[in-house]
Amino acid sequence: MNTSLNIEKLIAYAKIHLLLDEADEIYVRNALVQELKVTGHEIYEVNEDELETLGSPYSIIDPLLSYAVEKGICAENEKPLLAAKLMDIVSLRPGEIEDTFESLEKNPAKAFEWAFDYAQKNGSTRTDFTKWDNKGVNLEVVFDEAESGDKCTLCVENEGLGEHRNERYIMLNALGDWYYKAARHAYFKGMAHIVSSEHGAGAIDESTLNTMFDFIEFAPTMFILTGDDMLSKHAHFVCGNSLLPIHKAGDKLKHKNKEYPYINITETDWLTSAVKLGCTNRGKLIEFTMKLVGSFKKEFGDGKMLVSVRKVESKFIVDLAFTVGEPKREHSMLAKVDTLALAGLFRIGGFVDAKLKEIEKYLTKEVRFTPMCLKDGMEAFAEMIDTLLKEAGGNKLGAVEAALDVKEECKKNLAAQLSDIAAYSDIKNFTENL
Ligand SMILES: [Zn+2]
Repeated sequence: MNTSLNIEKLIAYAKIHLLLDEADEIYVRNALVQELKVTGHEIYEVNEDELETLGSPYSIIDPLLSYAVEKGICAENEKPLLAAKLMDIVSLRPGEIEDTFESLEKNPAKAFEWAFDYAQKNGSTRTDFTKWDNKGVNLEVVFDEAESGDKCTLCVENEGLGEHRNERYIMLNALGDWYYKAARHAYFKGMAHIVSSEHGAGAIDESTLNTMFDFIEFAPTMFILTGDDMLSKHAHFVCGNSLLPIHKAGDKLKHKNKEYPYINITETDWLTSAVKLGCTNRGKLIEFTMKLVGSFKKEFGDGKMLVSVRKVESKFIVDLAFTVGEPKREHSMLAKVDTLALAGLFRIGGFVDAKLKEIEKYLTKEVRFTPMCLKDGMEAFAEMIDTLLKEAGGNKLGAVEAALDVKEECKKNLAAQLSDIAAYSDIKNFTENL
């Protein structure tokens, strides 16, 4: 492996994708060479064509990280930290990012697209997750661990720290004290966080709704959503370009409220109780939304909500989901129901993924299923295994068919989780008799 060549590739990549100024080239080269403790660095000609098509820097960074581990410059578990450092060296400073964003702001959709693309290109946003295609039950499933840890990863004070070193916050002047930050783990196109400048809880109230509407007036091609768990520690929203399952769900029934006859109230054909409100008048729509929220909170103090705002043609659309309680035990072994799940996007972690792979082996008979298999966490899947084996009816399934059956059964369980916690069966009464 030629480390000098890889460093030159990284510099060329940064010139193509990260707006690295030629005037900064020597400075950046020396910073990289020192960070990687390379002696006798040589400058190479790089084939730029092969770098043009790269969507992320990993194929250039990975050999440099292996080199660093080999030379004892960093430990194996410090690779993410070193990767963030190297990518920070070749990226624009936060102020330069803000200036570029502002220069594009006349076309906010373009500005956000640029910011998200930049985060992908500088390696601070990952998008390469295994996903299930959204066929059959209208749900998205992504394989990834939910981010955990006590330290708040949203506070702007963390900008530049540790593994967050190459992340960039962009102050959104149109919203006041709110920042844009592409999500570290982006599960859909343009997934980003709109983050309050101060650490602290928020609530689904008028001021939160006003911030959401401000965002949509600024960027009408996007959606923005939040929910109780996103507001609990550090108030924030998730925004994106591609619609989520709840947005794509069809209409079930139309209702009318006498006080607000000009608001279109549509019961959503969704897995848990949900409504869509449509109106061109922002003020009236916020007022009516707050009435529904107030009525819900009064009836179900511990209930959880999702609220999303977007625009379709000239109308604002507010999507609301209302849930209460916990899903039934036999449905809840696959994934947690958080705000994204209320919108139809579930995350399945590595532990569960391994169990699902094992269950596929019972269906292909690579492993013989006996009650003895129900240990080390497999107990939770007993009912699912039973259903799947019954469906297979003693037949030995092919690997593809086994995987398909497991996927379908999982989606049924995830859908059931959402219907378990529906707060209302009678949306008509809820929306018409406030
Ligand atoms: Zn915070």
